Amino acid sequence: MLKFTTTSAPEPTPAAERETILENPGFGAHFTDHMAAATWSAERGWHDDRVGALEPFTLHPASAVLHYAQEIFEGLKAYRHDDGSIWLFRPDMNAARLQRSARRLCLPELPIEDFLTSLEQLVTADAAWVPQVRTEESLYLRPFMVGTENFLGVRPSAIVDYRVIASPAQAYFTTRDRGNQPGGVRLWISDKYIRAAKGGTGTAKCGGNYGGSLAGQIEAQEHDCDQVLWTDVDGEGLEESGTMNLCVVTRDGELITPGLGTILEGVTRDSVMEIAPEHGLTVSERRITVTELAEGARSGEITEVFACGTAAVITPIAEFASERPNVRDVVVSDGVAGPKTLAIREHLLGLQLGKIDDPRGW
Ligand code: PMP
Repeated sequence: MLKFTTTSAPEPTPAAERETILENPGFGAHFTDHMAAATWSAERGWHDDRVGALEPFTLHPASAVLHYAQEIFEGLKAYRHDDGSIWLFRPDMNAARLQRSARRLCLPELPIEDFLTSLEQLVTADAAWVPQVRTEESLYLRPFMVGTENFLGVRPSAIVDYRVIASPAQAYFTTRDRGNQPGGVRLWISDKYIRAAKGGTGTAKCGGNYGGSLAGQIEAQEHDCDQVLWTDVDGEGLEESGTMNLCVVTRDGELITPGLGTILEGVTRDSVMEIAPEHGLTVSERRITVTELAEGARSGEITEVFACGTAAVITPIAEFASERPNVRDVVVSDGVAGPKTLAIREHLLGLQLGKIDDPRGW
C-alpha cells in the first residue's frame, strides 16, 4: 500500500496572496503549494509515492505521452463544511473510473485505496487552500497519469507517472439569466464533429477526448453558444456536453438521461439518478434524439433540461442551437431554469457541502 508521505515542505504561498486568490479563484488558474506523486515501472510496479512541492515535469522529448497521448485523468472536489472540516464527495467512484480509464488506455491500475490516500494526503498538506463556501467554492483535485517512457515505438509505456494537483475553484458556468429569474446555458448541436463512437475511447477520461473536442467548442462559440451538445455517429442520439452529462425532464415527471456506452459515466449523473426519485421523478436511462428534444421543448412536453458534472454541478440548459432547420433556436420553458433543476441542484450542493443529512454516506 502506498503512503504518499509528505517529504518536502515547499515555501508556502504568502497567506495574503493565497487569501486574495481564494476570494476570486476562477477555475483551473491557480494552484496549491503541493502535489502528490508516484511512479510505476514494469519491473517495480508503483513506487516513489510522496507529497512534495508542486513542480514542473522534466520530460525527454521522446516521452510517450507527448507523441501518443497515453494519458488519463480525473476531476473531483474537496469541500469545506461549516464546521471547518474538509470532505471529498464519492471519491471511490473517481478511483474506480480511473481504473476503467487505465484499462482502456493500457496504463497500470492504481489501487482504489492508494488513489484515496493520495487525495487525503494532498488535501491535508494543502488544507489552507480549501476555500470557505460562499456559493459553491471548493478545491478542485486533478489526479492524472501519463506514459513517460522515452521510446518512439507505439506500445504501452513501461514507465508511468501519476500526479495529483489541486486548484481552488468557484462556479464554472455563468448562466444567461432572464431578468431577475435564473436562466441557463445555450448549447450547440454540431453537424460537423462527433466526440465518440462505439468501440472508441468515449467512456474513458483521457486527454485525447478533450483535445478532439476543441474544434466543436470553437464552432459552438462562433454561434454564441457556451458548450457543445454531442450527438452519436448518426447525428440523432444525444450524448453529453463538453464536461457534463445530460438530463431531460418531462411534464409527466420522467427524468431521461442517455444510456452508457460512448459517454463518460459521470459521478454527478449517478448521484442525480439516485436522488431524482425524492423529487418525484422516474428515472429512465435511454436514447433521446435531437428531434425528440426539439419537438418536446416546443410542445411543452419537455419542461426542463440540465447538465450535470463535478465542475458544473447542475447547470440549467436554456437553449439549443444548430444548423438544422428544425433546431435553429430551441428555447426550453422560456429559458427560465426549472423547479426540478433548482431543487436537485440545492439537494446535491447540500450533500456536498454537508448542509443536509447524507443517508448514503457519500
Ligand atoms: N462528461 C464528460 C465528458 C466529462 O468530462 C465530465 C466531467 N468529468 C462529465 C461528463 C461529468 O462527470 P462527473 O460528474 O464525474 O464530473
